[in-house]
Amino acid sequence: MTAPFKNHLERQDMFRSEDEVVANMMCTVAMGREAAVGKFRLGGAGETTLRAQRTDGKPFHADPVYTDIEKTLARLAEKLKVDEGDTGRFINPFLTNVFRRFKVDSITLSHPLGGCRMAHDVAQGVVDEFGRVFDKTKQHEEQKWYNGLYIADASIMPTALGVNPSLTIAAFALRIADKIIADLDHVEAEFERVAAFAIPTGVQPAKTRLL
Ligand SMILES: Cc1cc2nc3c(=O)[nH]c(=O)nc-3n(C[C@H](O)[C@H](O)[C@H](O)COP(=O)(O)OP(=O)(O)OC[C@H]3O[C@@H](n4cnc5c(N)ncnc54)[C@H](O)[C@@H]3O)c2cc1C
Repeated sequence: MTAPFKNHLERQDMFRSEDEVVANMMCTVAMGREAAVGKFRLGGAGETTLRAQRTDGKPFHADPVYTDIEKTLARLAEKLKVDEGDTGRFINPFLTNVFRRFKVDSITLSHPLGGCRMAHDVAQGVVDEFGRVFDKTKQHEEQKWYNGLYIADASIMPTALGVNPSLTIAAFALRIADKIIADLDHVEAEFERVAAFAIPTGVQPAKTRLL
């Protein structure tokens, strides 16, 4: 339909395959660290189950990190220009004007962190540095945690890292696993001590490993 109004001797854009479309595109990934002040709450009537919003009331997409990234990319685009007249710029597929026109500004997250953040105490977070979950009723006791309850995933990161998180998540998981093993050794020693009292003299308690 459009060919007669453009160039009927050339194949029109709409017939280009996906491979042809992306052949002239350069994908650039920009990373930055946003304020990390999001807070989850359970949804009320008529809402989705889990709601998230910033504690400072700003929309997530209004974080200054996105403006800074756009400025940096604009400088890069300037360097990539072939001709002086080029108006080339990078398009953010997650924050485009199309979405803005429909008033559905949103941020796509591939590195969600901090749902059960690590902190010094229960007022600031959910777990301590070994992933032990704080027990609110034991705030002033030496043992402030639920016995045997640990969290060992990305949710314990207290803030945005600014880099891909998998290795850090794995490092935390290893540290927590070491701590669990150390704590179980203590439990095992205690178990053997109690078993020695409970079992009649002359009978050896079975060797039991708890892992
Ligand atoms: C598209 C994409 C690309 C990414 N690229 C990178 C990258 O290049 N480098 C990098 O470092 N990081 C990357 N990440 C981030 C990284 O993958 C995550 O941050 C990391 O996997 C989070 O680890 P996790 O253990 O906390 O959660 P997950 O890996 O999501 O593990 C959670 C597990 O819990 C299970 N689960 C959930 N609910 C329940 C339930 N109720 N009962 C039982 N099980 C449950 C899930 O099935 C899942 O197995 C990427 C993420 C995405 C989505």
